[in-house]
Amino acid sequence: MLPQQRLIDRFCRYVQVGTTANPDTDQYPSSHGQLLLGKMLAEELHAMGAVDAHQDPNGLVWATIPGNVPNTKTILLNAHLDTSPEAPGDSVQPVVMERYTGGDILLANGDSITLGDTPELASLVGHTLVTTDGTTLLGGDDKAGVAAIMEIAQRLLHSPDLPHGPIRVLFTCDEEIGRGTKHFDLAKASATAGYTLDGGGSGSIDVETFSADMATVSFRGRNTHPSVGKGVMINALRAASHFVSLLPRDTLSPESTCDREGFLHPYRLDGNVGNSTVQILLRDFITQNLREHADTIRTAAEKTKQMFPGLEYELSVIEQYRNMGDVLRNHPAAVELAEKAFVQLGRPYKRDIIRGGTDGALMSALGLPTPNLSIGQFNIHSTREFASITMVEQAIEHMICLLGLWATTQRN
Ligand SMILES: [Zn+2]
Repeated sequence: MLPQQRLIDRFCRYVQVGTTANPDTDQYPSSHGQLLLGKMLAEELHAMGAVDAHQDPNGLVWATIPGNVPNTKTILLNAHLDTSPEAPGDSVQPVVMERYTGGDILLANGDSITLGDTPELASLVGHTLVTTDGTTLLGGDDKAGVAAIMEIAQRLLHSPDLPHGPIRVLFTCDEEIGRGTKHFDLAKASATAGYTLDGGGSGSIDVETFSADMATVSFRGRNTHPSVGKGVMINALRAASHFVSLLPRDTLSPESTCDREGFLHPYRLDGNVGNSTVQILLRDFITQNLREHADTIRTAAEKTKQMFPGLEYELSVIEQYRNMGDVLRNHPAAVELAEKAFVQLGRPYKRDIIRGGTDGALMSALGLPTPNLSIGQFNIHSTREFASITMVEQAIEHMICLLGLWATTQRN
């Protein structure tokens, strides 16, 4: 079978295993499908000749492709098994469109992917695309990354002429709900650098993520029967909504910011008259700014307390992840070699920033510099998601070239 056809078959096989992450459970991984897909991948890695291919007790899949150049550094390749809970992910029906001829794409359920809402389509004429029937997401985020890493493993194992050092393969679980690195074992990875293959389009090297905290404000009011509420009732629900109205909206909000601007994002409100809770995401490329954002929240909570005499509140802020930019600047080889590989292949590329986080941000914080690379994902987390297999193929070529550069220029 031609490698390109094998890649398409592989990708379609993986997306048909439903692996939607479930934020409402503490179980790890949060959905059984992730264990099924992981088991399948560990078996396939073993069958193709990878060393020590296994699924660990937490569902993470590990394997090693031994190097064929002596004294070279170990590089980690990572993708995640789960898909976003923001769109249905069971019974995915992949539809392969070879040589896309342009124009809007009509999906089986009557919806369409239009040039209006997805202008990138204009640059994809001639590409092999995979969509769904319109009722589910595709899961190219991040099974495009999974399929690419599996192909890279197979091609390296079967092509002794391609130079490379030891490659550590790692598939993680529950990235979409912020738990991707919960059971990541840095010592087991034992790598010099890593790459997450989990980005949109092609040619981007993501070198910065947001720094992220989450704030929870809990209001405690006083409930009474409404018939006797006069002068006694303190409505925590009213307090919470007043509090949210005090948070900045025309600035420092997701609705009003772009590029390098940070924000405060109230995204969940639960409660009743007695108690209410507001959760707020704090995001900024400059980590120190998160403290100012937390101060803004505290000021709004204080003003709310004054407005509702007798109201009590508690504010807690937890760290979620940190901008990987600093780590990557201190360990420039991971990004520089990725650029060099694009130059060698004669392909355009750009350094990019993500208004979000990646598993690589957390791995970088632990000491493993891990930029994120494009893998042909489009319209992720939606039923109009699709993937460009042509771009996945280009990403595979790029990675094989990049691993060759690590082996030939960065000897131990
Ligand atoms: Zn992803």
